[in-house]
Formats: sequence, C-alpha cells, structure tokens
Amino acid sequence: MANSSIILVPKYAKLGKGFTTKEVVKSFEHPGRQTNPSKGYQSPAFYLDDLGALKKCILLCNVCRAKWNPRTHHYRAMYVADVSGKTDGYSSNGWCDACKEFTANVGGGKAFVHEEEYAKICIDPKIARRNARAAWGEHHAYDIIVKEGDR
Ligand SMILES: [Zn+2]
Repeated sequence: MANSSIILVPKYAKLGKGFTTKEVVKSFEHPGRQTNPSKGYQSPAFYLDDLGALKKCILLCNVCRAKWNPRTHHYRAMYVADVSGKTDGYSSNGWCDACKEFTANVGGGKAFVHEEEYAKICIDPKIARRNARAAWGEHHAYDIIVKEGDR
C-alpha cells in the first residue's frame, strides 16, 4: 500500500470501558515504594519513615525486619488470633515495603501497626489467649453435659 498509515486499534471496543474485574482490582493496588530514578527514587528508609509519619501499616519480610526497630518508631507487631493454630498470629504476607519482594519467599512477613491504631485493629495477645482458654473450658464443660445426658 502506497498510502499506508498507522491505524491504532483500542484493546477493547470502548476506550476506558470493558476492563476485566482483575484489571479493575489491580488498579486499586498501591504501587508501593518508587524505585524508578526518573520518577523520584525513594530509599527503603525514606519510604518507611513516610509510612510511619502517616501512621500506616508496615509490612516487612524476614530480612528487612532485622534492620528496622518498631519500638523506636512507636510501632507494634500486628496480632490476629489464628483459630486454626497453623501460625502464631503474627505472620502476614504480601509485598515487603522495603525490598518489594513477596514476603512468603523471604522467610515470612510480619506486619506492624502504629501504637495509636493498635487497639482499633488488633486484639491484645494476652486477651486473645484468655478468651481462647475460656472458650475451650466452656466447650469442655458442654461435652461433659452432653455425655452425661446420653446415659
Ligand atoms: Zn524486605
């Protein structure tokens, strides 16, 4: 063709529409620490300070956790009672805020919550343990009553 020109064809029938659910959900995802020098590189320490100033949750892998002290930044390890007993309740996985690796591949991750936000999000491990023991005791007493009722 002598008069050829570039014809741009949109990926979908209507521009801005027709995105799959997966693509829409992916767009909500925070890109994390900026590592592109042309867009303003953020060092891991700078990024963690930034998150700390905003009192946001910080997720670190096993390697990066050793380099960051939560107590000096008024942070506390996030605890979610695991009923299944597979984890100790402190483990959480995702993309590490410092090295951007998937924490499950780097020895497991741990999330940290600011002390001011801790009571809103987490249950204190001591209270969780007390509740679990009380629940187990109730269940045990219930079993005895059921067994005696069968006689
Ligand atoms: Zn890391």
